[in-house]
Amino acid sequence: MAKKINILGATGSIGRSALDVVSRHPGEWQVGVLAAGSRAEELAAACEACGAEAAVLADESKLPELQAALKARGLSTRAAAGEAACCEAASDSEADAVLLAASGAAGLPQAFAAAKAGKRMLLANKESVVCGGALLQQAIREGGAELLPVDSEHSAIFQSLAAATPAQREKAVIWLTCSGGPFLRRMDLTGVTVEEASTHPRWKMGRKITVDSATLMNKALEVIEARWLFDIPPERIRVVIHPQSILHSGVAFEDGAVMAQLGTPDMKLPIQYALYYPERRPMRGDRLDFWSMKEIVFDKPDYENFRGLALARDAGKAGGSVPVVFNAANEFAVAKFLGKKISYLEITDMIEAAMEHHKKIAHPSLDEVLDAEAETYEFLKKQWNF
Ligand code: MG
Repeated sequence: MAKKINILGATGSIGRSALDVVSRHPGEWQVGVLAAGSRAEELAAACEACGAEAAVLADESKLPELQAALKARGLSTRAAAGEAACCEAASDSEADAVLLAASGAAGLPQAFAAAKAGKRMLLANKESVVCGGALLQQAIREGGAELLPVDSEHSAIFQSLAAATPAQREKAVIWLTCSGGPFLRRMDLTGVTVEEASTHPRWKMGRKITVDSATLMNKALEVIEARWLFDIPPERIRVVIHPQSILHSGVAFEDGAVMAQLGTPDMKLPIQYALYYPERRPMRGDRLDFWSMKEIVFDKPDYENFRGLALARDAGKAGGSVPVVFNAANEFAVAKFLGKKISYLEITDMIEAAMEHHKKIAHPSLDEVLDAEAETYEFLKKQWNF
C-alpha cells in the first residue's frame, strides 16, 4: 500500500523537488495535504499534478482564491487555511511522513505539531530548529518523532555520522561547507543591490534564502541548526568555503579520519534519502565524475566581511532565546531589504542591534520564543522608524 506524505511549503523549491521525487516512485506515495503560504494558484496546480487530497494555505485571506482555483480545475480537493490547519497537516495521524519546508519562523509551530504527534519529520525549515532549540528536541523525544534533515549540508552530516558510535560523535568536529554566495570575492559590500543579492551562483531557491546565502546568514543559521540536530556544541562546528558545492559537509573523528558526503548539487538526493531512510533507492540524474573533476577548492570564511557568521557564533554560544532574536532580526531585515527600505549592510546592523538590546532567557518556553520574536520586530520597527 502506498504511504502517505504531507508536504508543507509545497510551492517552494524544496516542496516542488519533493513532489518531483515522489512522482518518480509511482504507487509508493500518496500525497495527503499540500500546504503553502499564500500562492493559491500554484498550490491548486500542484494539487492537480499530484492528486493531493487536501490543500491548505497559511494565509486565511486567500482561501476564497484557493477554492476558486481548485474549482476552476474541476478538482474536489478539500481546502482550508490558517495556522491551525497547517499544524493539523503537520500532525496528521494518517501521514507516514511530513515534509516541513515552509519559509522562515512560520515553520516553528508546524515543527512542534509534527514533533508532538510523533511523525517522521523530513525537515527543511532550519528556522524552526534555530528558534525551537532544546524545546523542539524535547518535543521530538517526548512525542517519539523521528527527525531527518533535508538541508543538503545536514543530510551530509547525518550520512557521515551514520556509522559513528555515541562516544565517537561526542568528540567529532563538523565541517560545514558553504558555497560562499555571489559575494565571495567582493571586498566592499556597500551598495549591493536587491538584484545582485537575489541571484545565487549554484542553487535556485526562494528570495529569502537566496539573500541569506549572499549574506552567509544561511550558513550562520545552519551552524545553529547543526548544533541542535547533532547535539554538537558550536565550538566544534567549522564553516569552510567550498564554491563548487560538491562536498556537502563532513565530520572529522578523533583519530583524524574524515567522513564526508559528496555528490552533484541536487536537492532531490537529500529529499529522497530522508524519504526512504535507512534505505537507498536508485535516482536518475548526473553522477559525480572524479575523472573530470580538475580542482576542488576550500577556503576559510572571512568573518569580518560576513559579520553574520560571527554574530551566529555569538548567538549559538549564548543559546537560550538569543538565536531566536538573531533569526527574527534577520527575517525582518531581509524583508525590508527586499522591499528596498534598508541597505544591504544594514541587515547585519539590525541583527547586531537586536541582539545587543535583548535580555536573554536561558530556557525559553514556546510562548517566550514567540514573544522574543515579536519584541524583536517591535524594537527594530521603532529603531529604524518603520
Ligand atoms: Mg543548506
